[in-house]
Amino acid sequence: MSPELVHTMVLMATAMAAGISLVMFSAYRSFPEDIQGLGYWCLGAAVSVLIGPSYGLVYVLPQAWALIIANCMVFVSTIAIVAGTTCFFRRPIYWPALLVFSGTAYLGILWFLLLHDDFPVRIVIAAFFLCSMYLLQVFLILRHGDHHFSSYFLVGLLLIQTLAILINACHIYQRQETPFDIFHGGFAHQFYLYSNTFMSLLIGVGIMLMSTHELQKCLVQRALTDPLTEALNRRGFDIAYQQKNAAAASLQIRLSALVIDIDHFKAINDQYGHGMGDLVLVDIVKKIRDHLKPDDVLARFGGEEFVVLSAVSSTDTALELAYAIQRQLAQQTAQQTNPALPAYTISIGIALQKDDGHAEALIHAADRALYRAKKKGRNRVCVDGQTEFDPVLTDDAKYQQVSLNML
Ligand code: GH3
Ligand code: MG
Ligand code: MG
Repeated sequence: MSPELVHTMVLMATAMAAGISLVMFSAYRSFPEDIQGLGYWCLGAAVSVLIGPSYGLVYVLPQAWALIIANCMVFVSTIAIVAGTTCFFRRPIYWPALLVFSGTAYLGILWFLLLHDDFPVRIVIAAFFLCSMYLLQVFLILRHGDHHFSSYFLVGLLLIQTLAILINACHIYQRQETPFDIFHGGFAHQFYLYSNTFMSLLIGVGIMLMSTHELQKCLVQRALTDPLTEALNRRGFDIAYQQKNAAAASLQIRLSALVIDIDHFKAINDQYGHGMGDLVLVDIVKKIRDHLKPDDVLARFGGEEFVVLSAVSSTDTALELAYAIQRQLAQQTAQQTNPALPAYTISIGIALQKDDGHAEALIHAADRALYRAKKKGRNRVCVDGQTEFDPVLTDDAKYQQVSLNML
């Protein structure tokens, strides 16, 4: 491999690193804050642009100085990219461990550059540092990443680069080569040089693919959830209903809908202000969630009305859920567990799915029951199709008794 070709490759690597760092910077400025790590990745990519030119300093500075600066760029860029990957998965960055490990490796390189000039040992230390950093990222992606093409693409690239660095370091160490031999080496050196040239671009592409996938997830989540309470909105509910309906049909179980409405919510707003009303909405969602099974669905249908969709065996299961939520509210009022919030009650209408399987029919039936609960005085549970003389009302009365005793 001629020196001209090596120079061209370094130039290409620098140009590609500059391109990808621009793309990352634009993503950093425009992606929502939910996607973390882009700032560090951007810094890592920007510093990696300086690696090639730093090696070029050998033509204007003493060689040792150029190598100190170039190695520093490699280390800073790698640390920033590892920090980006860690942040992306919302894991804590153990800065002391990361900096002590990197600092020791860097000092080792300086030692074998300035005090005992030994090129193969320097390469082995650098390879050990870089491979550890790449494998740490592979671990993070496999452990916390999605089963998605972007994750596997990046893992594949990091493993190829690790392999290239290891093979190259083994060759140099075994043969006790000099820096000059790298340009005349066989397959191992060529594999390393080519892989190094294109990796800054490809790893950048992998990182952008993973971030874009995260952006897509974030936008879908925003489109399907209510920003205040983080319950599903109507669109999210419709999608969840289709999925649950299909699953319920195949398992031959029924769906129930609980329509939950806060009583006299307008009065809470009027008396304590809209902000307090919002806190009450967040509070009720938290309380409802406490009683849901992992695959139950919770959605906010308009102002202070929520719908729970749950697979049940009978009305009793749905009633238990409704009473459990009401009981918790009564306890909060009695024990004043959250004195910052005003006391409030809820009414609940329950309906079981009929054969037609339409969401509108189910919600409409639960709404009818809710209307009855409101008409009968609020702070109670009614089941669609059950009259004043059926056992549900007896249970309801029992519950009223329980909550009154608690108060
Ligand atoms: P009822 O017991 O019959 O349900 O009476 P209500 O006062 O709870 O029901 P109504 O429909 O009369 O009033 C609902 C109020 O909810 C009116 C509206 O200002 C308020 N609201 C709707 N969305 C929000 C919101 O996001 N935050 C707050 N704080 N209030 C909201
Ligand atoms: Mg209401
Ligand atoms: Mg309402």
